Amino acid sequence: MKLHCLGSGREVGRSCFLLETDQRVLLDYGLKIFSKGGESKTNTLPIPYQGNLDGVFISHAHLDHSGLVPELYTRPFVHWFGTPPTMQISSILWNDSLKIMEDKAPYKKVHIARAEAHWTQMLYGQQLSLGDTDYKLYDAGHILGSSMLKATHKGKSLFYSGDFNSKDTRMHKGAVPPEGIDYLILESTYSDREHPPREETERTLISLIEETVDEGGTVLLPAFAVGRSQELLSILNARLRGIPVYLDGMSKAVTNLYLDNPQYISDPQDFAKSCDSAMFVENTQMRREATQEPGVIVSTAGMMEGGPALSYLMGLHPNSRIIFSGYNVEGTNGWRLLNEGKVFIDKNELEVSIPATYLDLSAHAGRSELLDFLKKANPQKVILNHGDKTQAFAQEIREMGFDAIAPANGDSIELP
Ligand SMILES: [Zn+2]
Ligand SMILES: [Zn+2]
Repeated sequence: MKLHCLGSGREVGRSCFLLETDQRVLLDYGLKIFSKGGESKTNTLPIPYQGNLDGVFISHAHLDHSGLVPELYTRPFVHWFGTPPTMQISSILWNDSLKIMEDKAPYKKVHIARAEAHWTQMLYGQQLSLGDTDYKLYDAGHILGSSMLKATHKGKSLFYSGDFNSKDTRMHKGAVPPEGIDYLILESTYSDREHPPREETERTLISLIEETVDEGGTVLLPAFAVGRSQELLSILNARLRGIPVYLDGMSKAVTNLYLDNPQYISDPQDFAKSCDSAMFVENTQMRREATQEPGVIVSTAGMMEGGPALSYLMGLHPNSRIIFSGYNVEGTNGWRLLNEGKVFIDKNELEVSIPATYLDLSAHAGRSELLDFLKKANPQKVILNHGDKTQAFAQEIREMGFDAIAPANGDSIELP
């Protein structure tokens, strides 16, 4: 086996490896999304690979893993593999990113349609063989349909973790570490950080909401459309009483896909109740109503780089509060609000007096879970990706007695 790191080496975003056995397959094909006004295209796409491909595996729908799939169909066609939710959610996200990237997008609408037509369904536990290599998907516990991939060739196996969470959340059962594998590609997003206990975080969230509503304010929860919004709905339904909850933005369509795929969530009946108890914002009238009475609004965009979350900001009662529950990239409105109390709207700087807080509801394994996963998998070699501090983490893991590397983009790794 031979592995080429084409993206997500020593960084988060644009995940992509080329795995060579008798077959050449890509493990994920993601991008860093760039907006029309802002960033240039530099360093947002994986290193291009122009050779023949036998297949493409997509671990899950988040754009840093799936975002460039339509671009594959600007060339001779290849099949891509993933779970049904990965395909359905990716399709929503591709269409949305096309709108954001406009003419800077590396693909067009027609390529999305081709990508949809060239998807091959893969279910958890089902084996797929291409030539002399066998592939199998496992539940990653990260978002709806998220998967980890095992590739076996001539008695040697490689396991790609994608993004995973080994702890149970309200939406998903935790991922189970693999056994008897030779090589492990391990995501390292939280290699240097622990998550606070979920119970504690949920209590803090609820008490902040209750305090704010008591003072006549609204709590705005900017949330990623895939995963976080649904987890928030479940928490609110379980713990909050008598306070209206609104859901707005792309989360609505994605939440409907969660309802359509009950076998991919831990407690579908409970989730259906969570959705019933929330109001899906359908028009501007409802949007106005949402800010006129004290309550909670869950809305995209998670980093407030647009979407209804940003529009709501203007209409909030002065006693309101904004609570982020996901990662905010430096320079985004979410990051600015948390660090500087400002946002940029249409390139105008705007001071915001409403307080903004961050609560960690991450869907990634924290440091202890990463180490635990590694110890249980006990591979001959571990390859770290999807993290800002993979080199330091590799050093630590070597001191524990493992053979660990943190490849940079462009590096090739022989797996004997
Ligand atoms: Zn992800
Ligand atoms: Zn990711």
